[in-house]
Amino acid sequence: HFRCRSAFKLLEIDDKFRLLQPGCSVVDCGAAPGAWSQVAVQRVNSGGTDPALPHGTVVGIDLLNIPLLDGAHFLSSHDVTDPVTHAKLLELLPGGRAHVILSDMAPNASGFREMDHEKLVTMCLSLIDMAERVLQPGGSLVCKYWDGILAHKLQEKLSSVFGKVQTLKPNASRKESAERYFLARMYRKAAE
Ligand code: SAM
Repeated sequence: HFRCRSAFKLLEIDDKFRLLQPGCSVVDCGAAPGAWSQVAVQRVNSGGTDPALPHGTVVGIDLLNIPLLDGAHFLSSHDVTDPVTHAKLLELLPGGRAHVILSDMAPNASGFREMDHEKLVTMCLSLIDMAERVLQPGGSLVCKYWDGILAHKLQEKLSSVFGKVQTLKPNASRKESAERYFLARMYRKAAE
C-alpha cells in the first residue's frame, strides 16, 4: 500500500534510529509521489489514527505534483531551495519548528556520474540553510546523496552544525548503486 518502494528505506532507517515519534513535526523534501510521507504520517500520528497519542505534523515539498494524503500538507510545485518555500514552512509547522528534516531528493540524472553527484551534493547543502530556518535545536536530518569526491565535504559541513553525523546504506538500497544517506543528529546552530 506504499506509493513507492523507497518507503522501505525510510522504514529501515527509522526502525533502527527511532527519529519519527508520535507528535513530531517532519519536513519531507523531494516528497513525490509520497511514500516517505506515508511512513512519516503513520509514525508521527499526524493523521490522528491513534487518538491516545500526540498528533504530529508532516509537510512534503516537491517540484512535481504530490497526490493528496491524509495527515500531510503538501507543497507541490515548490523548490526546497526557494525562500518562498521556507516562508510557507514557517507557517505550516507548529511554532515554525521541525524536529526532523527528511530528504530523498534527487536531480534528474544526466548519466554523468560526477556531474549528478555534484548536483545532489549542492542540493543537500541547501538543506543546511533550511535547517537554519526551521530545525529545532537537537533535531535530525536524513539526506540522500550519491557517493563521490564531494561526500567528505558535505559530511564536514553537516558536522559543523550537527553533533553526530553518520553514513547509512539501507539494505533496501541496491548494492550496486552509489546511493547513500547521511543521518545527522543533535542539531545546533552554527556560531554567529
Ligand atoms: N521519497 C519519495 C517517495 O518516497 O515517494 C521519492 C523521491 S524521488 C526519488 C526524488 C524527488 O526529488 C523527485 O520527485 C524530484 O522532483 C524531487 N526534487 C528534485 N529537486 C527538487 C527541488 N529542488 N525541490 C523539491 N523537490 C525536488
